[in-house]
Amino acid sequence: MKSGHMISRRGFCLCCMGTATFAATGGWMSPREAYAEARGLVSLIKDSAAQAKIVTHRLRDNVSILEGSGGNVAVLSGRDGLVMVDAGISVSRHQMTKALSAISPQPVTHLINTHWHFDHSDGNPWIGAGGAEIIAHENTRKYLSQVKRVEDWDYNFLPLVQTGLPGRVFSKEHSVKLNGQSLTLKHYRSAHT
Ligand SMILES: [Zn+2]
Repeated sequence: MKSGHMISRRGFCLCCMGTATFAATGGWMSPREAYAEARGLVSLIKDSAAQAKIVTHRLRDNVSILEGSGGNVAVLSGRDGLVMVDAGISVSRHQMTKALSAISPQPVTHLINTHWHFDHSDGNPWIGAGGAEIIAHENTRKYLSQVKRVEDWDYNFLPLVQTGLPGRVFSKEHSVKLNGQSLTLKHYRSAHT
């Protein structure tokens, strides 16, 4: 019930989940409870993403949002190929591929990760293996390269395989011109993403 509520949240995120869990239980859980909850939730979120339909929202010009697999995914299409902002969850690969090819037959050439949370980066390996260059803040690569412990959950996220790791990183700011647009990636200290 609790989990169902959280999964249905738009723009679901690890950090939102901590707050939602806190609100839903009306107080702090013991470490053992938090651990059980986290393990259950990670599997639930993955199971849910495996079933979820990906809904495409066309915004304007060549920008779309794909909703249904973890965090929302932005897609910029054009002559340079598809540029994705965040990767969703890997079990959604089939539906994600379908949604992407409905936007354009071109391959994904670039993937930008907003942050390391698994609902935004779990799909990195299949997208990277398909030839996309992955761009992110240096801390995102650092956290995706190692066992990342989420203390509040008493939970360890495992490192991604090599193909899923960002190959291009920046520390403060990074600009790219793709598909006729200038994209500016900026690091905001102490921010979620
Ligand atoms: Zn997050």
